[in-house]
Amino acid sequence: MPLSNQDLEVRLARRGISRRDFLKLCGAISAVLAVPGVTADRIATALAAAPRTPLIWLEFQDCTGDTESFLRASNPSVADILLELFSLNYHETLMVPAGPLAEKGRLDTVAQYPGQYIAIVEGAIPTGGNGVYCTIGGRSALDIAREVCGKALATIAVGTCATSGGWPKALPNPTGAAGVSVAVPGAPNLINMPGCPMNVVNLASVLVQYQTTKSWPQLDSLRRPVFAYGRPIHDSCPRKERDEVKNYGAADHLAGGCLKSLGCRGPETRANCHQVLWNDQTNWCVGAGHQCVGCTEADFWDRFDPFYRNGG
Ligand code: SF4
Repeated sequence: MPLSNQDLEVRLARRGISRRDFLKLCGAISAVLAVPGVTADRIATALAAAPRTPLIWLEFQDCTGDTESFLRASNPSVADILLELFSLNYHETLMVPAGPLAEKGRLDTVAQYPGQYIAIVEGAIPTGGNGVYCTIGGRSALDIAREVCGKALATIAVGTCATSGGWPKALPNPTGAAGVSVAVPGAPNLINMPGCPMNVVNLASVLVQYQTTKSWPQLDSLRRPVFAYGRPIHDSCPRKERDEVKNYGAADHLAGGCLKSLGCRGPETRANCHQVLWNDQTNWCVGAGHQCVGCTEADFWDRFDPFYRNGG
């Protein structure tokens, strides 16, 4: 069985995380999920009692942006708390072992916890040439993804590369880059969390909902959680219904005008960036005066280019 979480508060304290910090994260997740009855108190109680579900985090054709998003979220970081709630058994960027010992951690988890671990996939999977464009420990990314995701309790594809191919899939796509849904057809309980990168608060919310209720969030037709990708950015944008800005740095730009004339893709882009924000919940692209480039949408690189119009 996975490890017990009984001494959670003691382990959090060792990382310098107080109960107050922990409850604050539970409260933030409760607000983001907006599931009736899933309150901060219920989340905190359930997390302390739930076993530590093993995680395998795979990285393929990526820039490590989702890992950075995971690690650099806040202080104390969401990652610090998640690393105590779950057992991160394999992550190429974070783990200490290298070579065969590192591979053993992944292989042992798949063998010991079939159907009980969660796979997190970052980066596209090259399917061309039978997977030859990305190999790890002598095996193709395609082969590893099919084994790990195929035997997982669930797979969470984080970032637009893992969900739909992202920039590695930009035309002419010489490696046959694809997202998990194409490269690993039939992966059980696949959840897509696009974004360049994904927002760690959304990832934490999905993981914590599972630990709390043993259920997954409601998904849309692209397997994206509705709580995070249910509405276009434009719908709740504070710049909505303001006059359109014609040039960066102009008075109307600085005063919070609409960025549509500069190429904003907020009307076509589904995400909750304005709600969860970035950099320790400080700001988001449109809030900082940069138009939305549509990074949570499939094929945004080819579809929305050029990103800049007028003055950019
Ligand atoms: Fe919509 Fe973008 Fe204008 Fe905001 S800035 S109102 S998202 S077009």
